[in-house]
Amino acid sequence: MSGAANTPLFELRELRRHYPIERGILFKRRIGVVRAVDGVDLVIRRRETLGLVGESGCGKSTLGRCILRLEAPSGGRILFEGEDLAGFDRTAERRFRRRVQAVFQDPFSSLNPRMTVEEIVGEPLLVHGLARERRARLRRVRELLELCGLPRQLVDRYPHEMSGGQRQRVGIARALALEPEFVLCDEAVSALDVSIQAQIIRLLEDLRERLGLTYLFIAHDLSVVRHISHRVAVMYLGRIVEIADSELLFADPRHPYTQALLSAVPVPDPEIERRRPHRPVGGEIPNPAAPPAGCVFHPRCPFAEARCRREPPVLRPIGDRHEAACHRLEETAMAGPHSGDRVADGGSGEDLATPISTGRAT
Ligand code: SF4
Repeated sequence: MSGAANTPLFELRELRRHYPIERGILFKRRIGVVRAVDGVDLVIRRRETLGLVGESGCGKSTLGRCILRLEAPSGGRILFEGEDLAGFDRTAERRFRRRVQAVFQDPFSSLNPRMTVEEIVGEPLLVHGLARERRARLRRVRELLELCGLPRQLVDRYPHEMSGGQRQRVGIARALALEPEFVLCDEAVSALDVSIQAQIIRLLEDLRERLGLTYLFIAHDLSVVRHISHRVAVMYLGRIVEIADSELLFADPRHPYTQALLSAVPVPDPEIERRRPHRPVGGEIPNPAAPPAGCVFHPRCPFAEARCRREPPVLRPIGDRHEAACHRLEETAMAGPHSGDRVADGGSGEDLATPISTGRAT
């Protein structure tokens, strides 16, 4: 591993990604801007899984794409091992592209239907000139399939001849072909059945341990994020509103938006469901082209007061490993039996808690 061991793998400083809204065909006129990511400070430590959650449209996938350099930031900086990505020359860029990879949501659409598993998994090796000779490449593809719990004989199959879980394992094998250090998992299990989700999550955890990987795990499902993440960041309308060690966040969520997300996760035990505190919020996520003034959550927040409509809150610490952006953190603590542990046992979490081998997929 290169870079100082205590330097974060990634550090985002005031990261922004804004999209202009333009009108006109010949003479384009800017009439506004969508603030998909709007001033995010975030650290991703080596060998951790950082979960990133929020409703659809909150900017979490855009943030992931900026980290991968698939999108150019509009402002702010992204440091990789302390070095600004914006200053990378072609050699540094090529090296970076080998070290960071991604697994996306829908394995069916992200795999070329005309390519066999051998071609899909072997392609990055070919592109980077790592195994030009077919026999060497095939050997490596078979090793990668085995690593991901797939039978070696699958090399001749096409994506449509496999199950959803097998296809996602192939996607993971392809992502690992270049021996990356960082893998962005963007809704990587969202399209799968609950029992298959659990298997893929076990596989990702196992691979992290064995290969020393770092993940940014993007999802809208809190149960899934909790299970795999060391820390969790909650995003709302382009901003991080709360970040904490996973257990802390689920045991003591302090931002009203995080509390609302947790309230929305069903718990199958009716007694626990009745006793646990609920703090749902109404309304829709506002238009990111016209975010509310002050705290962007104020139109939906049960705690909103005059100050919230004027002053945007900044992240501030609650204890050691927990921060939230809210003016009224002293009043938002939720009393009574908390949803934290129970949420993990409920809904899809129940299946995630079932020990499932990362061995061969069926
Ligand atoms: Fe609610 Fe105000 Fe806190 Fe925003 S700053 S989350 S509106 S209490």
